[in-house]
Amino acid sequence: MRKRIFFKLFLLIIMVVGVSTAALDILVRRSWEASLSAQLQRDLEDKVQMFAGRANRESGSIPFQQLATEVATAAHARATIIDRSGRVLADSEANSTEMENHATRPEFVSALHGQMGGNTRTSHTLGVDFRYVAAPTSFGAVRLAYPLSSIRADVRRVRLKLLEASSTALLVGFVFALIGAESISRRLRRMVTFAQEIAAGNLSARLPETGSDEIATLAIALDKTARQLETNFRNLETSRHQLETLLNSMEDAVIAVSPAREVAWFNGAMKRMSTSTIAVGTPLIRAARDPDFLRVVADVLDTRKTQTVTLYSVVPGRTFGMTSAPLPDGGAVCVLRDSTEIVRVERTRRDFIANVSHELRTPLTSLLGYTETLLDEPLDSKTHKFLEIIRRNAQRMSRLTDDLLTLARVESGEDPLEQAPVSVRELLRDAQISFNEVARMKGLTIEVAQSPDILVFADKDAVHQVFTNLMDNALKYASGTKKIEIGAIERAADVEFFVRDFGPGIPSEHLARLFERFYRVDKARSREAGGTGLGLAIVKHIVLNHGGQAGVTSDLGHGAMFWFRLPLAKVQAEFTEQI
Ligand code: ADP
Repeated sequence: MRKRIFFKLFLLIIMVVGVSTAALDILVRRSWEASLSAQLQRDLEDKVQMFAGRANRESGSIPFQQLATEVATAAHARATIIDRSGRVLADSEANSTEMENHATRPEFVSALHGQMGGNTRTSHTLGVDFRYVAAPTSFGAVRLAYPLSSIRADVRRVRLKLLEASSTALLVGFVFALIGAESISRRLRRMVTFAQEIAAGNLSARLPETGSDEIATLAIALDKTARQLETNFRNLETSRHQLETLLNSMEDAVIAVSPAREVAWFNGAMKRMSTSTIAVGTPLIRAARDPDFLRVVADVLDTRKTQTVTLYSVVPGRTFGMTSAPLPDGGAVCVLRDSTEIVRVERTRRDFIANVSHELRTPLTSLLGYTETLLDEPLDSKTHKFLEIIRRNAQRMSRLTDDLLTLARVESGEDPLEQAPVSVRELLRDAQISFNEVARMKGLTIEVAQSPDILVFADKDAVHQVFTNLMDNALKYASGTKKIEIGAIERAADVEFFVRDFGPGIPSEHLARLFERFYRVDKARSREAGGTGLGLAIVKHIVLNHGGQAGVTSDLGHGAMFWFRLPLAKVQAEFTEQI
């Protein structure tokens, strides 16, 4: 890493130094050359004017050759003197007698015309590049020439210096690149090690950095992220630990199943309950053998809907209530509660009630029989009144024991339903016919409001019992009104039957509890009407046994509508086929 960084940095430095050297060479050298030339020109012009002045003054008193040599030495230049015809009279560098006529030289052309002239070219005489400047005199013209080689040497010196400076800069850059690469790569290596530690799960790894450049800012941000991660992870761990302790201390068995139907997690109660070895990662089918349990879990995993069932063979001889719910990760969690004791107590209670009711039946029948026989005898009014009270109460007790027995039977499910496809129309017609007479006597009519031509999957006699209880109530509580409506509505998967009256209705606060046993809105009225408080409880249990639902809506003062739903026969047939 260090080598790569170094090469990149050094390449950058070479490029920067190279570009600046080239720019300096082009710009500075040119302006330097131009300024040197301009200065040389000015210098030569001054000196040639002085040369011309001296030549004018001293011509005739000192030989031209001596004058040329003196001026050349003083001006560090080549000095030439010509007459009006262009003949060279003297030259500091060459023999004047051997030199050709100079009248056509551009600088002399101007000078012989009375003006200062200049030119740059290679000397015919000496073969060297010169800058020439000539000035007119009284006898002809004088000229000073400066070799351009000295300017070029100056420029070359400057370029050499520039090159030296660039090389030094490159050397310094090399050292800086080395140091920089080492420092950057050391810091980056630290960050890589840090990232690897975090990836390996060591969230306590830290990246100390104090600088303020980009790398330091990144390192500080990474360090902060690691701290945050560690805090969050610790909080999560604590919550997980708490949850685990809580679930392990529960008496209910809890098991989580992964989407691949493997055991994802289970608590202590589940482990104790499990007859086979249970471990995380084992297929559920090996951890639990109960087919109902496996079916419900598979159902919940597929449908993602919570289900509650009763299981009988998870542990032989014990009953469990299980609720299985989908988990957000696609799996499911099951909570199993041992309900063996509750079921046993419930059964004992039901048996007790059934037995008591049954035992009471014979003495009650005999009581009623004797009372009625006595009532047929001529009696004084007081005895008649008392016997009438005994008969009424015996009748009530008899109804109560009958209802208690019916309720115990439907609640226990021991009397299995004989479900079959039954015509809805037939059920409604039976209900209407059975109660027509009683209704007529109470001044009421029974109307079939809606009667779809469909089949429900139900036990005909049980449904008739439901209608009996509901109609009985409607006739009891809605007497004095005109009609009772019965009917059925087809829904997606079931049929909703209803019995509607236009009596006093039921206050809304009672509606939720109305189907509880012995729950009555007005106890005195119910008793007076011959009610036992068990009619709706029986309705509820019969409907539940069909896999349906029962309920009530009421508009106080305008009547009540009791409804119950039974499965459609065709839906039931499909369901049975699937099983
Ligand atoms: P009961 O034998 O007392 O009628 P039910 O279980 O059949 O017992 O009904 C419970 C209570 O619901 C009744 O006591 C009565 O207060 C109320 N109830 C039932 N049906 C009606 C109705 N059609 N109109 C008004 N109240 C009703």
